[in-house]
Amino acid sequence: MSDLSDIYQEVILDHNRHPRNRGVVDHPTHKAEGYNPLCGDQLYLTLRMKDGRIEDVAFEGHGCAISTASSSLMTEALKGATLAEAEELFEAFHSRLTDDECPAELLAKDLGKLEALQGVKEFPVRVKCATLCWHTMLAALHEKQDPVSTE
Ligand code: ZN
Repeated sequence: MSDLSDIYQEVILDHNRHPRNRGVVDHPTHKAEGYNPLCGDQLYLTLRMKDGRIEDVAFEGHGCAISTASSSLMTEALKGATLAEAEELFEAFHSRLTDDECPAELLAKDLGKLEALQGVKEFPVRVKCATLCWHTMLAALHEKQDPVSTE
């Protein structure tokens, strides 16, 4: 797993060792499960929406360092966001990780600490680890019943 050292920046290490928003929110309004069979990452995400915004969001489960750090960073980024804002953030984040010609307007978007995960782009197999939590979050907000799988 030596290839990972290049993407293990300090922010990722910190969020892997000390994940933020771990657990289950009180009185969740939305929830979903996600799996990444390629790596073995498992995720259970709960959210509480209030007045059209994400008031609280938390995750549990187990996964690799990238999936744990990404979930932790995502939960921090999403608090207070509307569904539309969450989708915009995902679109910019996903495009930067997967799209060789990421549109300029998405490149210009400030992703804050999420930018720490951009190095994952060089390791396509790891992109699913980083995006699993986002797919799971969107499934929860869109009230999809089936567990999310990246395969
Ligand atoms: Zn993983």
